[in-house]
Amino acid sequence: MPDHTIHPVSHAMTGGSHGLLARAYYHVKPYLPLGLRWAVRRIRIPSILRRNADSWPIDESASGRPANWKGWPDGKQFALVFTHDVESAAGLHNVRKLAELETHHGFRSSFNFIPEGPYEDPAELRAWLEDRGFEIGVHDLHHDGHLYESKESFGLKAEGINHYLRKWRAVGFRSGFMLRQLDWLHDLNLLYDTSTFDTDPFEPQPEGSHTIFPFHIQPPAGVEGPGYVELSYTLPQDSTLFLLLREKTPAIWQRKLDWIARNGGLALINIHPDYVDFGNQRISNKTYPVTLLTEFMEYIRSHYADAYWNPLAKDLAFWYRNRHPANAPAANTPAPRMS
Ligand SMILES: [Zn+2]
Repeated sequence: MPDHTIHPVSHAMTGGSHGLLARAYYHVKPYLPLGLRWAVRRIRIPSILRRNADSWPIDESASGRPANWKGWPDGKQFALVFTHDVESAAGLHNVRKLAELETHHGFRSSFNFIPEGPYEDPAELRAWLEDRGFEIGVHDLHHDGHLYESKESFGLKAEGINHYLRKWRAVGFRSGFMLRQLDWLHDLNLLYDTSTFDTDPFEPQPEGSHTIFPFHIQPPAGVEGPGYVELSYTLPQDSTLFLLLREKTPAIWQRKLDWIARNGGLALINIHPDYVDFGNQRISNKTYPVTLLTEFMEYIRSHYADAYWNPLAKDLAFWYRNRHPANAPAANTPAPRMS
């Protein structure tokens, strides 16, 4: 029997070599200029690509449908969810432009803000986004790589995160650097988390969920809570493609989208407004041209005009929870493993 229980990959923060590397990196990171951070991360790229040639960007094992799967609303072929993590003041500056670009192409998305990080709570910008039908989510708390340092300190941080979930009327969360302790997130008042991915060997905790479908995270024995929906991102992050791998086209996004569409899954993407250059249209150490985004959006519309459902992440999570209840008799599908 394969082991299908969720392993919140605690070893990666408390032991294994990835944990040591990650912790060393987050200690020096604040002192490294942004361009140099990407240069440091780029050193490991060739060996990561070699080792994961069979599972990135496409992990064939992630295409299996849950046993109780009933399909997407209105018979749509696949679902398409845009999310954005706003990392810095530079990102804040680009939020409106990115939201307008998506509106122009007929898309809606969620913007995840860091509550107590490198910028002030952008109240006016949040209101502007909500007025236009975008979703607000919480991105980490301080975004310093220390969120899960100990269970004790996480308890306090969870209170802080819950405060912002309430204040921002948000129901979605993503950790900084995709670090995670999925079992601890039951302390948060969440509908969904999106700190996982089907496959992304470039992250400090590289274990994937191996699925392109939503799934439930139920509290372990002895832990109270209603559980939450986990939405793995399934298209590579923009920063991975254009800053880390220095791709010159959105071809990898297109190939992965085609595969997800063929398999009827969820295409969930994380685009950082911080790294989009709306002006110079050049690839630099810190930015990539907006034309790469527009090209991808046009590709989606021209190839899949009426084939996708593009809800906000919270609407998809809400729909999934109601349509595929965790405790329904048919929902005894093993949860995806994190390995
Ligand atoms: Zn982040």
